[in-house]
Amino acid sequence: MSRLLGVPARRGRVTHVEHVPARQAGQARWPDWVSETLVTRWANQGIFGLWPHQAEAAELAHRGRNVIIATGTASGKSLAYQVPALSSVLDGGTALYLTPTKALAADQLRALEALDVPGLRAAAYDGDTPYEERAWIRRHANYVLTNPDMLHRGLLPGHARWSGFWRRLRTVVVDECHGYRGVFGSHVAQILRRLRRVCTRYGSSPVFVLASATASDPGAFATRLTGLQTAEVTTDASPRGSITFALWEPPLTDLRGEGGAPVRRPAAAETADLLADLVLDGTRTLAFVRSRRAAESVALSARARLSDLASGMISRPSPGMAAPASLTSLADLPGRIAAYRAGYLAEERRGLERALRSGDLLGLATTNALELGVDVSGLDAVLIAGWPGTRASLWQQAGRAGRAGQDALAVLIARDDPLDTYLVHHPEALFGRPVEAIVLDPGNPYVLGPHLCAAAAEIPLTEDDLEIFGPTSKEVLASLVGDGLLRRRSSGWFWTRRERATDLADIRGSGGAPVQVVELSTGCLLGTVDESSAHTTVHTGAVYVHQGETFLVTELDLEAGVALVEAGTPDYTTFARDVTEISVLESFRSHPLGPGELHFGSVEVTRQVVSYLKRRLQSGEPLGDEALDLPPRTLRTRAVWWTLPASAISPLAEAGLDLGGAAHAAEHASIGMLPLFATCDRWDIGGVSTELHADTGMLTVFVYDGHEGGAGFAERGFSRALEWLTATREAIASCECERGCPSCIQSPKCGNGNEPLDKAGALRLLAVLLSMNG
Ligand SMILES: [Zn+2]
Ligand SMILES: [Zn+2]
Repeated sequence: MSRLLGVPARRGRVTHVEHVPARQAGQARWPDWVSETLVTRWANQGIFGLWPHQAEAAELAHRGRNVIIATGTASGKSLAYQVPALSSVLDGGTALYLTPTKALAADQLRALEALDVPGLRAAAYDGDTPYEERAWIRRHANYVLTNPDMLHRGLLPGHARWSGFWRRLRTVVVDECHGYRGVFGSHVAQILRRLRRVCTRYGSSPVFVLASATASDPGAFATRLTGLQTAEVTTDASPRGSITFALWEPPLTDLRGEGGAPVRRPAAAETADLLADLVLDGTRTLAFVRSRRAAESVALSARARLSDLASGMISRPSPGMAAPASLTSLADLPGRIAAYRAGYLAEERRGLERALRSGDLLGLATTNALELGVDVSGLDAVLIAGWPGTRASLWQQAGRAGRAGQDALAVLIARDDPLDTYLVHHPEALFGRPVEAIVLDPGNPYVLGPHLCAAAAEIPLTEDDLEIFGPTSKEVLASLVGDGLLRRRSSGWFWTRRERATDLADIRGSGGAPVQVVELSTGCLLGTVDESSAHTTVHTGAVYVHQGETFLVTELDLEAGVALVEAGTPDYTTFARDVTEISVLESFRSHPLGPGELHFGSVEVTRQVVSYLKRRLQSGEPLGDEALDLPPRTLRTRAVWWTLPASAISPLAEAGLDLGGAAHAAEHASIGMLPLFATCDRWDIGGVSTELHADTGMLTVFVYDGHEGGAGFAERGFSRALEWLTATREAIASCECERGCPSCIQSPKCGNGNEPLDKAGALRLLAVLLSMNG
């Protein structure tokens, strides 16, 4: 480890080392209201009390307060909700457990069954539950585990058959609720409102206990998700080992990319070298990469590096740091690095675990598919190639390292984008208080409309119900009546059509029929992609990664709604490029920002994917563009935008800066940085910038939600604009390139081929906007 951190800047460099100290456990105890029965059952499992954070959440729930527990992985969140939920069940109540995936529900069920609590009748109720068991569950189960989809399509529309369950419902557990973000989260928020209304009908008012990964403002998020005031518990008091966390920035290479910009060495290539070095030291290391193809290439290059070393072709990286391994063991090192493949049999997985634990296997490169079924922990080091998207996944991956009483090593290796650049230069964003929030927008009319129909089909809607569904519901109801979907009568709004109202809401997608991804050779359906993101993710020629496996799209047939793919091992990645036009429909909120103005409002976006860029996997070198012929798509959505008047920017123009290029560069970098403040993916947001926009009459930069009706990301950008734009400027300033590169202002999605861009101009422009001395 010392050797790794001391590696000379021949390759990348360490930008920061953070020592995260071990955390001692607080005092574990049981609240006095937990029954003897439960205390005994848990004691049989080796659990002798609740840590203080678990006790605080359990206590709040027991007293009838809605609560969200947002603490790190492995902090024992399930115990925090199981204790109050099981206590109320033993007391004659029922509990409903919701999770985004069936697999998690199955895990929870196993854990509950293992407790063997007398009187507990727990059952999973999802699409896989046999029909003959369903009636029994509805009538007798007192702890039901399901998912939002089943709640939406099964439990709520059929509420009358669950009357006994609703009447006694005391606890609703919403587990892994950080998964409920964006459009999907907005749907779930409305499903939970329907659930609350059904409970009211049966005279119950259950307490909501939510469990989430760490994020900023969990209480505010939970309140938005459930519509109920919710307390938050965020202090983690579970024990943890110490960890040394290094941030690593790959070097700029001599390769030249678009506009002559320097190309940074890919994170995967750096990871392979680091893996080889660590293995050489006898350090048991896990390397996390994005795709299985990348995992194979990382393992392969690490092995090649060690073979070269063994045959004396290259010298050791830092002489004199460690005793050289004997020649025989050196020759055998390449064989001790492997890539983890999905689809291993249980026996093979156990073998792999054993080999890692014994040290026979020293290095393993993997996608996070590893999460599915291999238990490796207690390794010496973890390498993470690229920001995994959230702090929760970062710590989950880093948490694989650490043996009892020993310091573990984790290294985050930056990819060439503005967010990774920012993070390796701003460790406080990783190790300080979380800034990323889980956002959603339950008021999105495209989401709310279908759920109002579903709610009316469940129990006719009355004026009194409107408060539950939020301030926009009145307007949305009027348009549903106008469209003939609902009928207004004196006693309320009714669903009078023959179809099922729940079919109107596609809760995992967003408008339009999803595109099916089909493997050409086998006819297998691999999955579906939202119609809105199909143009960017499964266009003809795209490299498509599905559960770590790499496929090439041979044809996207929009009329048939099918993308045909073939398994492949291309040595490049693809990025769809689009051109966008935007018009302002309405500004909802605005305030001055420096000499300019900041707005949040509704916009109409016309976006067309025009080509895609190929980049070589090993080197990051651009391999040119391929044109695409796809129709433009128009969507009405929400955007955040800022403007600067001519008086503020004319000095910059006089100083010879390219204003259009400056705004364009600021737009690219700010899109790259928004995921730091609002958990979202690349295709969730887009942007437009112009020196003079027809609707504002000024220099304007827009960032919009890429989903019909909006998803909450732009709104988050509006509310955290100062921090967001300050971080954007710092990301640009942190990059050591001279005139702009993919690590700062170039975007692989740019439909204009990254023209024009002005790095110095962007720094000046943002300084003016932020009233800094730039
Ligand atoms: Zn740069
Ligand atoms: Zn662009």
